[in-house]
Amino acid sequence: MTKNIKLSNSISIGDKDFIIMAGPCAIESEKQMEKVGVFLDSIGISVLRAGAFKPRTDPNTFQGLGFGGLKILKKLKEQFGFIVVSEIMDPRHVELGCEYIDIIQIGSRNMQNFSLLKEVGRTQKPILLKRGMSSTIEEWLMAAEYIKLEGNENIILCERGIRTFESYTRNTLDLVSVPIIKKTSEYPIIVDPSHGTGRRELILPVSRAALAIGADGIIVEVHPEPKKALSDGVQSLNFNEFKTLVDEIEALDEDMKKLTDA
Ligand code: PEP
Ligand code: MN
Repeated sequence: MTKNIKLSNSISIGDKDFIIMAGPCAIESEKQMEKVGVFLDSIGISVLRAGAFKPRTDPNTFQGLGFGGLKILKKLKEQFGFIVVSEIMDPRHVELGCEYIDIIQIGSRNMQNFSLLKEVGRTQKPILLKRGMSSTIEEWLMAAEYIKLEGNENIILCERGIRTFESYTRNTLDLVSVPIIKKTSEYPIIVDPSHGTGRRELILPVSRAALAIGADGIIVEVHPEPKKALSDGVQSLNFNEFKTLVDEIEALDEDMKKLTDA
């Protein structure tokens, strides 16, 4: 049985609702985030994702705005009531990060950063634990166990694809992990079609598949102007594309619920 994890007084994950988390890969400026906030609020999205600490492969590229970014995020949270998700990479940032973030994201590159896992395990915040890009399902569940052993069982797993010889997509999205996790663990699981494919045109079909295969939600990168994004622009949807995705997923969700109720 999947645990139901409370994200706010009215929203939880792991139950019947399919949760769509969305926002830009990185917090770039107050202006950019204001646009994102107004838009997501206008279409009823309540979980806002945006990175302040970015784990970039190339250290010469944009690294994120750090705590300055988290301050922008908190302002939007206060203005619109969003539940906010952001990545923490350094165990020393966990305590202060908790003042700004509702859901702490542990990125793929840090899935086996055991000191970080233990540190977030000492909080009671929901933890979004992304699958390591070369991790087996067993290793991923063991990473969750590190968090749990410190006392935090509010864990949400996120399938974001793994490295294979396939190079058409950025990663190979292992959607089969969803029913496996459902069968072998008690944690809710969401799918990240953005990092899982690295290609904007694949996000909608993969999101449909995630819903159909039993995931508890998706996390999608959305940017006001993907071409100008400082990170992950090629896999980010613009506002129109994202609105279409939400409409389609909501319609499919309704249809599936009718089928299971029948
Ligand atoms: C992200 O969510 O922007 C990110 C860096 O994801 P991952 O850790 O899955 O690569
Ligand atoms: Mn990204």
